[in-house]
Amino acid sequence: MNEMRIVMLGPPGGGKGSQAQRLAPDLGVPHISTGDMLRTAIREGTPVGLAAKAIIDRGELVPDDVMLDIIKERFAQADCQKGFILDGFPRTIAQADALEGLRPVTHVINLIVSDDVIVKRLSGRRSCKNNHTSHISWMDDPDKCPVCGEAVFQRDDDKPETVKNRLEVYRKNTAPLIGYYRDKGILRDIEGDVTVEEANRAIHEALE
Ligand code: AMP
Repeated sequence: MNEMRIVMLGPPGGGKGSQAQRLAPDLGVPHISTGDMLRTAIREGTPVGLAAKAIIDRGELVPDDVMLDIIKERFAQADCQKGFILDGFPRTIAQADALEGLRPVTHVINLIVSDDVIVKRLSGRRSCKNNHTSHISWMDDPDKCPVCGEAVFQRDDDKPETVKNRLEVYRKNTAPLIGYYRDKGILRDIEGDVTVEEANRAIHEALE
């Protein structure tokens, strides 16, 4: 199979992470979440993490040059040589232009989700220190990660005041990427207001 360099596009809470997590083992390529990488950097107290924390907590974007350094370092790892699924990168036109110069994208999946679904998903979303994501509506134990059993918490930026800003930032800075990739003829729209399984099937069909 040709190398697949996939970008998951869509608003916060659109299902990019859940879909990328399922797709990655099916396609045999890594799931690269820049949000997870930044949260790990914050937990480890690295210089990047220390600088990024306040920005993320406000729901704003980490500067493009910082993100490019992070992504270049990640691409240098051996598992990226056969392709990848990017989740949360690019988030600006400048990042997308830089990505074209590094590893040009072959497929873009654009998840379309209505605002009321986004708010429901984010307000019920729980995370654990291993970057697993769950939702209170389907957790047997509301305090434990269903994947690894670690304690769960709500991300600071999933709280209502920050979610509003994240959506505004998405509309202003990231939504223009839809036209950017549509013009290249590599974007497929996927209905995201459906179950994880239904969206997963639609994405597989779109990639075939
Ligand atoms: P996510 O987990 O993808 O929702 O990302 C969480 C937060 O990390 C975002 O709200 C941004 O503050 C930051 N972030 C993640 N990826 C990027 C990126 N590509 N460019 C700028 N900021 C990012």
